[in-house]
Amino acid sequence: MKRTVALVGRPNVGKSTLFNRIVGGRRAIVHDRPGVTRDRHFAQAEWDGRHFWLVDTGGWTAETKDPLARSIRDQIISAVDEADVIVLLVDTQEGVHPADEEVADLLRRVQDRVIVAANKADALPNDLSHHAFHGLGIGTPWPVSAATGKGSGDLLDKIVALLPQEPEADEAGVVQVAVVGRPNSGKSSLMNRLLGAERTIVAAEAGTTRDAVDSPLRYHGRTLNFIDTAGLRKRPKVKDDVEFYSTLRTARAMERADICILVIDAQIGVQAQDLRIAEEIWDRGAGLIVAVNKWDLVEEKDTSTAERGRAKVVDRVPFLKNAPFVYVSALTGLRARKVLDLTLQVEERRRRRIPTAEVNKVIHALTDRAQPPQKGGGEVKLYYASQIGTAPPTFSVVSNRPDTVATTYRRYLVNGFYEAWDFFGVPIRLKLKRKRDRR
Ligand code: GDP
Ligand code: GDP
Repeated sequence: MKRTVALVGRPNVGKSTLFNRIVGGRRAIVHDRPGVTRDRHFAQAEWDGRHFWLVDTGGWTAETKDPLARSIRDQIISAVDEADVIVLLVDTQEGVHPADEEVADLLRRVQDRVIVAANKADALPNDLSHHAFHGLGIGTPWPVSAATGKGSGDLLDKIVALLPQEPEADEAGVVQVAVVGRPNSGKSSLMNRLLGAERTIVAAEAGTTRDAVDSPLRYHGRTLNFIDTAGLRKRPKVKDDVEFYSTLRTARAMERADICILVIDAQIGVQAQDLRIAEEIWDRGAGLIVAVNKWDLVEEKDTSTAERGRAKVVDRVPFLKNAPFVYVSALTGLRARKVLDLTLQVEERRRRRIPTAEVNKVIHALTDRAQPPQKGGGEVKLYYASQIGTAPPTFSVVSNRPDTVATTYRRYLVNGFYEAWDFFGVPIRLKLKRKRDRR
């Protein structure tokens, strides 16, 4: 699992410059917040084979009486809660600033997770200006020049050394489950409900105490491991950070998940952001269950209310017709077990393997019903097909002209697969391959 590193420090010390240097060309996820002068970012980074998420705490509000101190404090409070390593950036060309001391005070109680990076030490290795920051009293300052890159390798060595160890390779048979969705949809309430539904919560293994961010649950002889539940339970104290960390957490949890439970607030309905999350889950090849929560608050809740709601969503995002919707209440416990049952079912389907003879029978039936459209003179032929992978199920179809098979026809085939076999909740992948000419 990727870990999180936060960059903190007062404005202009070089946080964005260092962020860009560490992240390199990777795409940062921008989180634009209304009413602030700067957007915030997070991105994936890698050093020495260790992967982590880098979070920039550059946001800075100017509307309070003592904006500088307030903004810094807010960012740091969240960073301390959310990040595994906190990099305090200071400016060697300015020397120790009163705000640096204030930040250091806030970080003192988590000092073993803090690295002081003394930036703008452009004259390295002959630059000694970073020594002044010993005075902050929260550890050795490491000189760096974000602008030139000098010292950045050593700094990254220090950072990754503080990252918690990656957990052991996943135990065979454990289903990794992520509960995702917008803030306030009821993720942590639902989590608590699910974990409470079965009493036998697996004890955290020895040696993983710092790592106990996940909650494993035994259910019908299987272990469901709910990812990053510690993150779900605590909520940033700073209102402005709720959305930001929620997006980061979702990205982090989805990375490891076999199954994602997307929690929607029934009173609010499906929002654009929910659809983006659903799409990403599907693209990643994880199973998807849509849990429409707070069903206790819906006045007219018969099956037709539910079906109408679902139909509207499927209208906008057709692939969602292949995902189960379950109408739950974290508050009353309505259908909590149903969510767990679906999780096991979807995971089983995700690992399903269809015999090659059967795949070919279905492909032939589908091509008999509708031939692939001809393109640019020449016939497009599909010869044979097989399932080449599971989790997610991946099918290969061999054709004489794979590149000319239209997207609509590919969709027709995939829909045919969903009709032929039960892959409800699971994304099916289709690969068209060229028939190799044999002599
Ligand atoms: P932030 O407000 O903390 O994100 O700071 P920025 O990354 O925007 O940098 C503030 C200013 O410091 C910009 O003009 C940068 O070009 C400059 N800067 C950043 N890193 C260095 C460095 O290592 N050396 C020097 N000389 N300038 C730097
Ligand atoms: P999260 O931000 O997605 O983790 O959401 P929470 O679990 O913190 O829930 C947000 C709010 O919705 C809290 O006030 C919950 O008590 C409330 N809530 C969660 N689930 C339900 C539900 O099923 N019914 C009702 N009526 N309220 C709920």
